Amino acid sequence: MIKKNKYDAIIIGAGHAGCESALALARMGKNTLLLTLSLDAIAFLACNPSIGGTAKGHLVCEIDALGGEMGVNTDKTLIQIRMLNKGKGPAVYSLRAQIDKLDYHTQMKKVLENQENLTLKQAEVEEILVKNGKVYGIKTAQGEKFLCDAIVIATGVYLKSNIIIGKYVRNSGPNGFAPANLLTKSLIKLGFNVLRFKTGTPARISGKSINYHLIETQSGDDNIQSFSFLTKRTLKNTAVCYLTHTTLETKKIILKNIHKSPLFCGVIKGVGPRYCPSIEDKIKRFTEKETHQVFLEPESLATDEFYVQGVSTSLPVSVQNLIYPSIIGLENVQIMRNAYAIEYDCIDSTQLKPTLEYKHISGLFTAGQINGTSGYEEAAAQGLIAGINANLYLNNKDGLILKRNSSYIGVLIDDLVTKGTKEPYRMMTSRAEYRLWLRQDNADIRLTEIGREVGLVNDARYKIFQKKLQEIEKCKQILEKKLKIDEKLINFLKKENQSIPKQSIKIYDLIKKNNVDIFKLNSEFGFFKDFKREVLDTVNVSVKYEGYLKQQEQDVKNMLKQESMLIPDDIEYKKLKGLRLEAREKLDKIKPKSIAQASRISGVSPADISILIIYLKMIKK
Ligand SMILES: Cc1cc2nc3c(=O)[nH]c(=O)nc-3n(C[C@H](O)[C@H](O)[C@H](O)COP(=O)(O)OP(=O)(O)OC[C@H]3O[C@@H](n4cnc5c(N)ncnc54)[C@H](O)[C@@H]3O)c2cc1C
Repeated sequence: MIKKNKYDAIIIGAGHAGCESALALARMGKNTLLLTLSLDAIAFLACNPSIGGTAKGHLVCEIDALGGEMGVNTDKTLIQIRMLNKGKGPAVYSLRAQIDKLDYHTQMKKVLENQENLTLKQAEVEEILVKNGKVYGIKTAQGEKFLCDAIVIATGVYLKSNIIIGKYVRNSGPNGFAPANLLTKSLIKLGFNVLRFKTGTPARISGKSINYHLIETQSGDDNIQSFSFLTKRTLKNTAVCYLTHTTLETKKIILKNIHKSPLFCGVIKGVGPRYCPSIEDKIKRFTEKETHQVFLEPESLATDEFYVQGVSTSLPVSVQNLIYPSIIGLENVQIMRNAYAIEYDCIDSTQLKPTLEYKHISGLFTAGQINGTSGYEEAAAQGLIAGINANLYLNNKDGLILKRNSSYIGVLIDDLVTKGTKEPYRMMTSRAEYRLWLRQDNADIRLTEIGREVGLVNDARYKIFQKKLQEIEKCKQILEKKLKIDEKLINFLKKENQSIPKQSIKIYDLIKKNNVDIFKLNSEFGFFKDFKREVLDTVNVSVKYEGYLKQQEQDVKNMLKQESMLIPDDIEYKKLKGLRLEAREKLDKIKPKSIAQASRISGVSPADISILIIYLKMIKK
């Protein structure tokens, strides 16, 4: 008889990480239980009502390419979308969508409820149950016990969370949701190093109280590109954002009241994100700047609330009531929810294997903000990988480790488990060595086969992927076509300040020319009118950046050579006297899988690496 409280896997927390883990496991056939504090906080966008942006857009496309849900749910619920960094190179082209956050929650909840093999339940997990170094279940604060063979902890910003506004400190989750005060004790008992991080969010204001005539409208892109490779329908912008600025008055108010900031008077103990600073942090750090950009972003089509991007703070309400009206266009502002900071417990991610499994207990995985990251996209990426690896663990198979040359997800997880993080970790394109290859348009080319191998990419997605590969080949064949030097071509080349070739020229060579690309040739000659934008993006980059991509390929070969130099798990670094003390300690703590990973550990020098390579060659002999 099947025990009703027995599952293959249990996911703790239905945030952005937990949703991906639960869906991945259930879709790969595992009987999965998803427990969360409040069903009304499923996939809640606690901060900015947007998904994507520089490097974060890449993560969403990669999640989609592997068979995850965030990209699909974003395309379903977006109200505006833009491609950022179009003035820069294709490596940093990044989609960013404004999301209807109420609809995002509703749609994700529906997907979870309709997912086969998945059970959803509102409960607070109090304890992880372990026997002989392996997980076997959980206990809830409500007094229930559920058994399982694998667990993913995805508790986000809720562990012993406090929200802080000036001297007002309340034990609460974001947005007034209940905190999770009991689980940290169980994690400490299991040997986790627990850290205290913080992040902050701006006020939400009434749209009716905005003076729109004083500020700039920011619309979405005309021809929209979707996040998901599955999305066929034409996406529409149904909302706009607004651009405005703080004033000198804002700066004065903040400098005059800076002593009241919990950040600077010691109330806040947690470490905050360097790349999502509060307004008081920005004014202290960039003293020369008089004003700062502010974006007003609609939270949902179903509410009048606007998110004031760029003005997160934890200053007292009395000061907030001075700051917001000093911003252009907000002279008559009505604050609906005050800005606040939130402090919460998270874990030291260097205690995890590159599969996101905890080193000291089998079958226990962690994902999302609990691992020290910040951001919906970073969380969802980890949730997906933790779900895939919990499934492989249950199938007694080796875990999936994405290398740094395969994806931003690979860079993210390798940074976490190899270097750790002392503040909330946000993904950025500058963190990736091979970013010209790690673009949004080719995320499926890099990852969909892997998603297929692990059993997450279904036939429908795989068929779309194969069709795209065929389209790319067909498109590349057109590049071989030679064009006669006729009047139309001469006029085009003159218009683009290009020299006129003496004899017929391949389309490929035309694209190689500065100022010319596949899109210009297409609008002028229509050679590629039957191909989708994403196919043209991929082909255009493969021609225009051929040299750089070849160089990057060589760099990747060198890196993979070092990645293939594996280090046995039972190596005793303490005995390797040639290594410096700091290196011995760091290597012993991280236990890197390869020479390449060892060389990325801060405090391990190239000299230490040479000694290690010699030692490995010796024991091999
Ligand atoms: C105030 C605030 C400001 C933020 N600012 C930014 C920012 O500026 N930039 C940025 O990139 N990101 C920001 N974020 C972060 C962003 O919200 C998170 O990165 C993202 O939501 C993390 O996703 P997650 O899945 O790890 O966790 P969450 O989305 O936090 O979800 C965790 C889930 O776990 C559940 N849970 C927790 N403990 C238990 C338990 N014991 N038992 C059962 N269920 C449990 C909760 O109910 C929740 O549903 C901010 C978040 C907050 C709250």
